Amino acid sequence: MSNELREAAAIVRNAAKIVVFTGAGISAESGIPTFRDEPEAHSGNDDTAGFWHRFPVEEFATWPGLIRSARQQPRRVVEFVHHVLAPIADARPNPAHHAISYLEQERSTTIVTQNIDGLHQAAGSVNVQELHGSIFEVVTRDRRPVRELDRAQLSRIAKRLERIRRGWLPIPRMLWAVRRWLGLGWRGLHLPNLVLFGDALCEPDWTRGLAAAEACDCLIQIGCSGVVLPAAMLPLAAKSNGARVIAIDPQPTEADIWLSGSAAQVTPQLVAAALSRQS
Ligand code: NAD
Repeated sequence: MSNELREAAAIVRNAAKIVVFTGAGISAESGIPTFRDEPEAHSGNDDTAGFWHRFPVEEFATWPGLIRSARQQPRRVVEFVHHVLAPIADARPNPAHHAISYLEQERSTTIVTQNIDGLHQAAGSVNVQELHGSIFEVVTRDRRPVRELDRAQLSRIAKRLERIRRGWLPIPRMLWAVRRWLGLGWRGLHLPNLVLFGDALCEPDWTRGLAAAEACDCLIQIGCSGVVLPAAMLPLAAKSNGARVIAIDPQPTEADIWLSGSAAQVTPQLVAAALSRQS
């Protein structure tokens, strides 16, 4: 065991309150591409290359940009929605999600995630704050919950979109394919519960996540590039209230202790080492 892992395990072991703050990197080994990794980091395989290299933020990740793109390049919008949805529909939790679920059973733990993929809950975690919403939830335009979709329903939508990418009239057919998200016509306009750039973070998740970060003794940050604000302020909020910050990421990350490596490899090691000497 490395010195860093030993030291990080001691911090987790002695913490009364823990926050686990996760980003796209924790789900990379479940087959969901991250947003910002360089394409070269993925051996040139375009299916796993960083997302925003292929779909620029200004064209696809704001509501005005998306509406403009739907008029100007409808087939690309269908492709974008399919690329967000298909990997999530197929994904299963990996050992990092399971280790965090185990930690939550043993210790007072709040999970704050930027991910929309529902994999923490699929691994059994309960106290999960979703800052950017969830692709499974359907809400009204003022974000009141309407219904939830399951992974099988998302999978069916993804398969329809795959067919539409190649066919005629992409946008009307896409709207029909995703009608369970939109509640078209008879029930008024609904939306998937997703935070795009320029939207406020989900509530009460953000307020709860920030309060947990301010009250914790230890924050474990996993697979977050730290460039998306205000979510990236959570480690800072924890640190300025005296908590120790541990980062798990293959890329150098600012923290008290950086554990270099993949989430699925390092997170179970950290949790096992932290809980091993518990009576
Ligand atoms: P990001 O793409 O900006 O950064 C990913 C981070 O994960 C990087 O630091 C990278 O080095 C690291 N990483 C890559 N592979 C890893 C691995 N195997 N193990 C551990 N770390 C790994 O992601 P972010 O910081 O979460 O950016 C925020 C945005 O990404 C959010 O808006 C979030 O909604 C969105 N997002 C979510 C999903 C999802 O739901 N799974 C997928 C893609 C993007």
